[in-house]
Amino acid sequence: MTLPDARMAASAIGADTLTVDAAFDRYEAIRPRLPEAGAGGQAGPAPDLLSVADDYDGFLFDSFGVLNVGETAIAGAAECLEALRREGKLIRILTNAASYTSKAALEKYRRLGLEVAPDEVVSSRDVTFAHLDSAATGLRWGAIAAEGDVFEDASDADIFDLLDPGADWEDADGIIFMSSARWTPELQERLVAEISRRPRPVVVGNPDLVAPRESGLTIEPGYWAHDLQDRTGVEPRLFGKPYPEAFTIACKGIAPGRYAMIGDTLHTDILGGQAAGLDTILVTDHGLFAGRDAGRYVRASGIVPDIVMRSI
Ligand SMILES: [Mg+2]
Repeated sequence: MTLPDARMAASAIGADTLTVDAAFDRYEAIRPRLPEAGAGGQAGPAPDLLSVADDYDGFLFDSFGVLNVGETAIAGAAECLEALRREGKLIRILTNAASYTSKAALEKYRRLGLEVAPDEVVSSRDVTFAHLDSAATGLRWGAIAAEGDVFEDASDADIFDLLDPGADWEDADGIIFMSSARWTPELQERLVAEISRRPRPVVVGNPDLVAPRESGLTIEPGYWAHDLQDRTGVEPRLFGKPYPEAFTIACKGIAPGRYAMIGDTLHTDILGGQAAGLDTILVTDHGLFAGRDAGRYVRASGIVPDIVMRSI
């Protein structure tokens, strides 16, 4: 698929969900905007993570589709983390999640029964705030964020809620897109018009195009950002998987050779992990490809993980 086709796909958004195939096609259409994948693997099957643990010094886990689905921990995830800890393996969670602070994320893991330490979690929200100044300095940012987000973890950045009924979009020198929970096609039309009239820096805190939910796939900030780029020519800065900044932070203090990234999504977890020099493990039972032939998507994309397993 070429970019003009992608534009058609994007403009066809009317509902707030997409099919898995449409999401996959869209990921393929934006491949030129993603990092180059490193050398692919052989997609060798393995029964579970502990069966390959001896080959690694540690693991970077995606969260959604690997450790949890929504508010439910995946069966065996807590035991797997415990067993890896007993073996002295390094554990990091690298998640494209920008709606909640790290503190809220940790509380969620505790609720799910997953023992996770504060320094083990790297969210795309943290990565975004750490790089805001590299995108543009001294701006007043209008944020597209979850209801009630007060950005207390954004150090001294000047951020206001663009979706507050009293907000004046003209006050935004830049746009920071953190959550699509309150976003609509109508608001996207307004944003396209505003950015076309007065181009401004756009920063995106969650590069995912979609997220699997019980009701289907929801459209995430990355999807809207690429649509915005197609229609205005303004190139957003995206932070989180598969882009390198997230991996640089998550891999701090480790050499990639003996570490693997585990995820359910080829174009974020696996491609990003390969680009960062990590081994990669695709989990197929709980996330984007749940209930589908994941091998078909691996072959179609050419993004081939080192190992494929149904669940950790
Ligand atoms: Mg995932």
